[in-house]
Amino acid sequence: MSSVSNVIVCSECFADQGLKLDAEQIGIEEIGVCPNCSNAKGRKLSISELFELAHRFFVWGSILRCKYGAVPLIQFNEHQKTSIDFSPWLKPDVEIFERLLGIGFFDYGPRLWMIGEVEPLKALQATKKRLSIVERIISEYPKRVIEPHEAFYRIRKNPKKPSNPLEYDSPPSDHSCKGRLETKTNPVLYASQDLQVCVHECRVTAEDELYVATLKPKRSLKFLDLSILLEEENVTEFESLDMTVHMLFFATKHSYKITRNIAIMAQDAGFDGIVFPSYFSLLRIGVMPFQTVYGISHRIIPELQESESNKAIPNLAIFGRPIERGDITIECINKLILNRVSYDIHFGPIR
Ligand SMILES: [Zn+2]
Repeated sequence: MSSVSNVIVCSECFADQGLKLDAEQIGIEEIGVCPNCSNAKGRKLSISELFELAHRFFVWGSILRCKYGAVPLIQFNEHQKTSIDFSPWLKPDVEIFERLLGIGFFDYGPRLWMIGEVEPLKALQATKKRLSIVERIISEYPKRVIEPHEAFYRIRKNPKKPSNPLEYDSPPSDHSCKGRLETKTNPVLYASQDLQVCVHECRVTAEDELYVATLKPKRSLKFLDLSILLEEENVTEFESLDMTVHMLFFATKHSYKITRNIAIMAQDAGFDGIVFPSYFSLLRIGVMPFQTVYGISHRIIPELQESESNKAIPNLAIFGRPIERGDITIECINKLILNRVSYDIHFGPIR
């Protein structure tokens, strides 16, 4: 707990309700009056926590998702005066940040890679150039072997016969073709070692009857691992294959044509499946997507690469119908009950 002397504001200092609630989350309970508003009941924040609040509310809170990538619309620093006309209820709060931190808020002009101006990614979107980039992905990403002792999970909602092992195989081909990696002729079994990710990826609701199968491979399975951070030498974000794959798996349905193509070619190259970063990874660990320092991606800064690579929670996609084929066995089937759903929320200003 920080001492009273470090406190410079409290959650009660703020008028904007979202900002006040964010301040309550970041601040700590401490006895004494606030040096800024003289109120005693707010949760107290130090200077570094006030910076954290500015980043969470204004930068992370203004993030706009693009077709590929995402950018915050607002930034702040010590060199600029505020040049944004904020809502009337937020203006007095902005003055607190300006006065105590010496910062100004401004409209952020992103470096263009943040909105998908990445050469290999652009080539993937052009049908004629796609093949050579997919070939690069398959040859430059590493192989990962999942051994027979390594268990993973597969969730089914509303199966007809929950005890039937085949219910947990890839869906029959008439159901296929909705997801990221399967096609009509190439069904895919999705699984993960992280049960929370399975629940999210299944888009379950409270009304669904849920079952979870614990699965194990019968033989060593060979995967193309796209969940890692690919360390590239002397490459900017604009030419990065790592950024390409990272953005591809963060994107929604419009990217599936490309990811399905990767799956087909990986299967042709002899892989049993693909390990890919979960779309829900960032939600699961609660961090801002596409973090940068002065417009440079954390992914290409050597000191930050380890923490960046830990952000991806791997998902497994196994080609064909591996349970029917006998490559995967069912260790156990359980009913799964959702007893509490809670969302970790934070706020941002309107623009
Ligand atoms: Zn206060």
